[in-house]
Amino acid sequence: MTTTRFAPSPTGILHIGNIRTALFNFLLARRDNGKFILRLDDTDQTRSKQEFVDAIYQDLEWLGLEWDQVERQSNRLDRYREKASDLIQSGYFYECFESPEELDLKRKLQLKLGKPPVYDRESLELSEEEKKAKRQKAQGYWRFKLALKEVFWKDGIQGEVTINTTNVSDPVLIRADGLFLYTFASVVDDLDFGITHVVRGDDHLTNTATQIEIMAALGFTHPEFFHHSLLVGKKGEPLAKRLGDLSIRELRENGIEPEAILSQLAFLGSSIPVNLKLNLEEILATFSLESFSGNPTKFDEQQLVGLTSDYYRNVPYDRIEGRVIELGIPKSEGKRFWDAVKGNIKTITEINEWWKVLNQEIDPIIKPEDREFVELAISLLPEFPFDLNTWKNWVEDLKSKTDRKGGRLFLPLRLAITGKSSGPEMQSVLALLRVPPITKIPR
Ligand code: GLU
Repeated sequence: MTTTRFAPSPTGILHIGNIRTALFNFLLARRDNGKFILRLDDTDQTRSKQEFVDAIYQDLEWLGLEWDQVERQSNRLDRYREKASDLIQSGYFYECFESPEELDLKRKLQLKLGKPPVYDRESLELSEEEKKAKRQKAQGYWRFKLALKEVFWKDGIQGEVTINTTNVSDPVLIRADGLFLYTFASVVDDLDFGITHVVRGDDHLTNTATQIEIMAALGFTHPEFFHHSLLVGKKGEPLAKRLGDLSIRELRENGIEPEAILSQLAFLGSSIPVNLKLNLEEILATFSLESFSGNPTKFDEQQLVGLTSDYYRNVPYDRIEGRVIELGIPKSEGKRFWDAVKGNIKTITEINEWWKVLNQEIDPIIKPEDREFVELAISLLPEFPFDLNTWKNWVEDLKSKTDRKGGRLFLPLRLAITGKSSGPEMQSVLALLRVPPITKIPR
């Protein structure tokens, strides 16, 4: 069974880049009727916070990315200990004692000699006696002994990848304070949970080589890997600095709809054009992880604004009705009102602006050169309330009684009645008005 996982560290809130990874994993599992696991990488108890765990749940729920199982690495420390002791037994983990300062000195020396700054395995040569003596002074930490060879895998997005681990330092996987590092804990989890496909950012490529070696040392073959490119700004700049603005929280507060985010992320950077999809089923029908290129993917948040507008134009009313009512629009008038304004809003809260227009809580705009014309127009309005014919009859009457046409005819009327230069069709505006406009024209 296809089993995927999304593995955030609860050390911060989710941003658009995290969601891209989450979505890919989610869709891959759903496509094959498989399982999607949410794994919280929280071995670092000082940096991991419950508030971030809660925020991760909320953001994923808001987006509709439901998980089938949740796992916390902090609950699995015994299991990591067990597997670590296997690797100590088999000689893959070795204890080290160099301090950060000593390591730094080694690196500087290597660089001076024109050598790559790779850990020289000095601790691997220590005798039991020497280790004992060193343990008196400081706790040891553990490195994994890499095979120092070419690691090769066929990546679902990057194609054939070869990484030579001779250029990589043996990674520290257990710290002196006993903390298991991600690279190791993740391998144990991926094996235990039967992960078949690992989808993550291409910043993990070197980790993958290491993890493939750890998996082999534990006697397993590795899952399939898909390393997607990272999102970059419009000019190709890294998004890292702006990630706060691009958190799911922030986007949500700015009125971006989940469907806009999902529709964009499921296709941006692939050969399939980005178009609004109304739900995950529609996304699944076209999504293809194989259609992504390995090149950096340009991200433009304006596209999310456009997709959000598209969403309002296209979403069936029954899906949005609850929110329209919540914003204060009476149920009985909701649908007609929504249909009139949905093409003119960037975010849903803007419907309140249009509701004010219908209740004439506006400041009409009447230019001096239009005053006479607007006064005449108001005097020619039929009895209130209006209907869908009012606008047509009214402007025809005005055309015959004045020399105005086109923008000179329509714009002053729009400005006087809505206080805005654009908006829903005037035919609907007049039909939906809840109070007669005449009372509001300043004399
Ligand atoms: N916690 C890791 C991260 O957020 C997970 C990486 C992975 O998917 O293996 O980078």
